[in-house]
Amino acid sequence: MKESLGTTGLILNEPMLWEKGKKGRCGFSYPQRDVESYHLDDELTGTGPDFPDLSEVDVVRHFTRLSQWNFGVDTGMYPLGSCTMKYNPKTNERQARLEGFSGAHPLLPTHLSQGVLKLMFQLEGFLSDITGMDAVTLQPAAGAHGELAGMLIIHAFHKSKCLHCSKIIVPDTAHGTNPASAALCGYRSVPVKSNEKGVLSAEAVAEIMDEDTAGIMITNPNTLGLFEENVKKIAEIVHSKGGLVYCDGANMNAVMGIVHMGEIGVDVLHLNLHKTFSTPHGGGGPGSGPLCVKKDLETFLPVPRVVKNNNRYLLSENFPDSIGKMHTFYGNVGVMIKAYSYILSMGPDNLKKASQLAVLNANYIQKKLQGIFHLAYDRPCMHECIFSDKLQKAQKITTLDIVKRLMDYGFHPPTIYFPLVVNGAIMIEPTETESKENLDLFIEACKAVANEAQDNPDLLRKAPTRCKVRRLDETTAARHPCLTG
Ligand SMILES: *Cc1c(COP(=O)(O)O)cnc(C)c1O
Repeated sequence: MKESLGTTGLILNEPMLWEKGKKGRCGFSYPQRDVESYHLDDELTGTGPDFPDLSEVDVVRHFTRLSQWNFGVDTGMYPLGSCTMKYNPKTNERQARLEGFSGAHPLLPTHLSQGVLKLMFQLEGFLSDITGMDAVTLQPAAGAHGELAGMLIIHAFHKSKCLHCSKIIVPDTAHGTNPASAALCGYRSVPVKSNEKGVLSAEAVAEIMDEDTAGIMITNPNTLGLFEENVKKIAEIVHSKGGLVYCDGANMNAVMGIVHMGEIGVDVLHLNLHKTFSTPHGGGGPGSGPLCVKKDLETFLPVPRVVKNNNRYLLSENFPDSIGKMHTFYGNVGVMIKAYSYILSMGPDNLKKASQLAVLNANYIQKKLQGIFHLAYDRPCMHECIFSDKLQKAQKITTLDIVKRLMDYGFHPPTIYFPLVVNGAIMIEPTETESKENLDLFIEACKAVANEAQDNPDLLRKAPTRCKVRRLDETTAARHPCLTG
């Protein structure tokens, strides 16, 4: 193999601290005692934790080595499709840690929290501008949580008209959380297939839309990385039967400031601040999934809402139609601060440019790898492109083999076997933060792996061979997790 990002011999093994410890070793000297000694009785000391005795260098090396086993966006390209694993500028973290924010208690009276309330109020406005929607709540803690809030609002809307719908349309290209959120709200989801171009046709929706259907949940751009180009027509059909259009906007990174969601018929939309707006994610949060709505749904938004009154910012519960509270206090404020800082530091033109570059990068990869891997839909994509292992089938090489081998070349695997509508999917989302040079390195690595699949398929079946661990038994790992190391 020629030199590549993944060439290394200096990832060191590391035993557990308990195996390293030696009785009496010490990493810390206590200052001289200036009070009488006091013997704690055995009852207290006997039940203490069994900490190993270690020197300072033992501890420093242990944790430094473990940190080097990690792979993150600070280490290299992370082309995990559907996740927008872009690089998040550190300055946004710094702003979230400013003492005035990090030290603010959620129970502070409003006259002592004008700054943070103003930030939340303005952030709602920024998100309205970026999406083309009328009103926003920052309360939901994640994308799926925003979806649930949106479903509750759609339910409240129908209820206010004395209607009780039981169904909601969910296309096969929607994110998996969509039918789950609908079900949690009591709706039965009615699946609808996307057409041969990978998008939803108006005819398919017209066929199943009826008065018992609360609306439709469309992921746009969809999970195939394609823009739902018939959404305006679809919205007209849904609206004509009294339904509402929910848009899963977790893929906003492709269309920031470009698509006016309100104008194309969307009534309710959620965003993932922890994808598009500068909060690193994975590992369980915290996140933020703001929900944006059209004017006539504003009264249903969760309380408390931040309102501006005579140049003062207040938290108001005075919205009798509200669906209620979705989160303790106001949501995850730290994530909001990062988003606010990111949006201000970028400005409208650069946010738009970020989306344009995200789309350009994905199309560059799509074009360069077409024919190397099988392209699922041969048409321009949005922020991510989707291949499959179809061309490697003859060698009995699977998507899993391909991406495991990519790790040997120093790249985190793309998303695999998702979306389900593409067999053996390899879903690549480069994001705007990768340079052309990085994309070219990734493309070269993919080409080398595809060549090996032809000439030496066994190499792929054994991959990864240069990583800390070899191929893991993922089923056993999931069923019988060993959490002690
Ligand atoms: C990530 C994602 C979600 C879910 O977001 P969470 O914050 O993980 O709940 C929903 N829809 C789409 C399209 C996504 O990419």
